[in-house]
Amino acid sequence: MTFRTTTTNRLLIVFGLLFLLMSGASFSAFKALSDMHKVLNRIVTYNRELRTTLALATAIRDQYAHEAHTIILGNTSHLGYHDEACARVIDLVMKMKAEHAGIDASERIAAIENTSKAQAAWFREQVLPAVLEGDKDRVQAGHNRILEMVGSTQIELDAVATDLASRVHDAEQEADSIAASALQWLFLSHGLALGFALAAALYLRRSIATPLEALGKGAQQLAEGNMDTRIELDTKDEFAVLAAQFNAMTRALERHQARWVRQEKLAAVGRLAAGVAHEINNPLGVMLGYVRLMKEQAGGKFREDLEVVEEEAVRTQHIVEGLLDLARPIDVSDKQVDIGSLCNEVAERVAGALADAASRIDVLGQGRVSGNEQALRQVLTNVIKNAMEASGPGGSVTVRIERGDADDLVIHIDDSGPGLSEESQGRLGEPFFTTKPRGTGLGLAVSRAILESHGGRIDAENRLGGGARFTISLPGSAPGDDDPDSRTRA
Ligand code: ADP
Repeated sequence: MTFRTTTTNRLLIVFGLLFLLMSGASFSAFKALSDMHKVLNRIVTYNRELRTTLALATAIRDQYAHEAHTIILGNTSHLGYHDEACARVIDLVMKMKAEHAGIDASERIAAIENTSKAQAAWFREQVLPAVLEGDKDRVQAGHNRILEMVGSTQIELDAVATDLASRVHDAEQEADSIAASALQWLFLSHGLALGFALAAALYLRRSIATPLEALGKGAQQLAEGNMDTRIELDTKDEFAVLAAQFNAMTRALERHQARWVRQEKLAAVGRLAAGVAHEINNPLGVMLGYVRLMKEQAGGKFREDLEVVEEEAVRTQHIVEGLLDLARPIDVSDKQVDIGSLCNEVAERVAGALADAASRIDVLGQGRVSGNEQALRQVLTNVIKNAMEASGPGGSVTVRIERGDADDLVIHIDDSGPGLSEESQGRLGEPFFTTKPRGTGLGLAVSRAILESHGGRIDAENRLGGGARFTISLPGSAPGDDDPDSRTRA
């Protein structure tokens, strides 16, 4: 049986899809984290640059404060501080140059550097000599020039700081939108995963749990003794195979149980019948003896009546013998029996003894088995006699001996009779089942018992071309020494 989908495939598909979904969700989360990391790095850089810019603005204000103090006090007491402030301004300008990678502010920084250097030089060379000389007009003009330079530096610094602050703001907004969209994806993928997991659970329940439940229920019903339990699954997977095997098993169990019950029944009836037969056999022999004696002395109508009594007594004796055969334990010796010769012998004897029987019988093939020759002769006699009787005048019987599977010896007995009726097929081998007016219904029952004691069996079926086929199987065949095509015609 080929599977359209197997349970393994289903599980692989379901968990594979779930894995892909979760991998997609994880990938998008990692991507968002990495983007966020980059944006946060940018914010840190902008903030650091902003701090340096603000520090530079403070340093420039310090520089101006010391210049103003020098002008107000009219001495050099603040010159040292002024130099320190100038040095800090230069340091911070250098730092800004090194740091300003985030924005293109090189022109502004260069302008700030030049202006602050020019401011320091202007103070030293123009304003300080005027202060020390007490030339108020020159001092005033120099101070005005310094204020202009400080103003222009502050404007440049403000522009850089504003640019950086707006970039920080933009980056923060970008980080917010990354976080929001990551959250959206996370919710969406988790929702999808949840929906998919629910659908997968329903699918697996329908395709795995439901068939398992049906199998479990079937096994329970079987355990409760319902032999007609069958499991119907409309799938084409391992469970359908399991259900088919379960159904085959219950059918076999049903058959075995029916056969066992029938055998037990037959054994009980057989034991009872054998007991009765044993008791009847002796008085019957005595009665038959007397009838034969009286027949010799009688004449006319009375003799005819005695003949009927004798005939019926003989028939009863056959029944009794059949019953005793059925109950008698069979000694299965390990003597080699030549089945080909035995079939030929039986065919000849039966053909000679029967009137109104088939006019032709062929025996084909050879074979040997170990067993009880006398018992096997009885089996072949019963079956061949039935076949000859069923075929009737003008009919034919073929006995074919061949080797079956597992080295069994198989004997097919085919006849040209009417075949087996439905009732016969169901009741074949049942003691006392007969459709013949003067039959005992014990021939096949005895044959079956003999064959089963040899480890063999007998089966019957109707042939397609008409007539019945009885098949006897016996274990452990050995090929015959003679010509396999040997043929006897009676
Ligand atoms: P009996 O021959 O005394 O009836 P058997 O046990 O030998 O007893 O046979 C039982 C019944 O099986 C027969 O009465 C007959 O109905 C059926 N039967 C046996 N062999 C054949 C056959 N070759 N073709 C048709 N029916 C058969």
